Amino acid sequence: MDFSLSDFLSVLYGEPYDWVKWVHRNLSDNHCPECLMLDGCFFKGDNHPPHPHHPFCHCILENISQSEIKSQATAFAAYQKFDPYLFDPEDFYKHGKNKAFESWGYSINDSNWLKNEFEKQALQKYILGDYKLGKLDEHGQRLSIEIKIPRKDKEGSISFTTGWMVCPNGKIKLNTPLGGK
Ligand SMILES: [Zn+2]
Ligand SMILES: [Zn+2]
Repeated sequence: MDFSLSDFLSVLYGEPYDWVKWVHRNLSDNHCPECLMLDGCFFKGDNHPPHPHHPFCHCILENISQSEIKSQATAFAAYQKFDPYLFDPEDFYKHGKNKAFESWGYSINDSNWLKNEFEKQALQKYILGDYKLGKLDEHGQRLSIEIKIPRKDKEGSISFTTGWMVCPNGKIKLNTPLGGK
């Protein structure tokens, strides 16, 4: 029988241990930049950065309910992440990511559609806790989220990893439209 950590905690606390809010407490002069970036961020109860984050970390994890995350979570992808960044019409960024999207039949004219689709799918997956924790540094905690879109050049669909930054109060922000760490 499978008995997960969240099952165990539900039994312990008598309620579903769904989500946590990372809370940094000002209890010392030493404000570590990583904990400050995590302050106020929401994570699935079984998928959050290691806590305590380091010896003498004063941060706490507050339980929040599934309904709170559902009502508060938002996903934002800046239009500029697609036009000009992803499709790179001036060949300025030279990352070659445009070639992948172009080979699936997409062009810079799809930027708005992609922005909306990325936001919709990433929000659904974030709310389900269907993300992978990526790099955490003084800029914040990154998440990887799988996005699936139809191919426009032929039948079928294509899945790839996108990179997001976790912001306070249930917001996630697109970092990179293809690839993530
Ligand atoms: Zn810290
Ligand atoms: Zn801390």
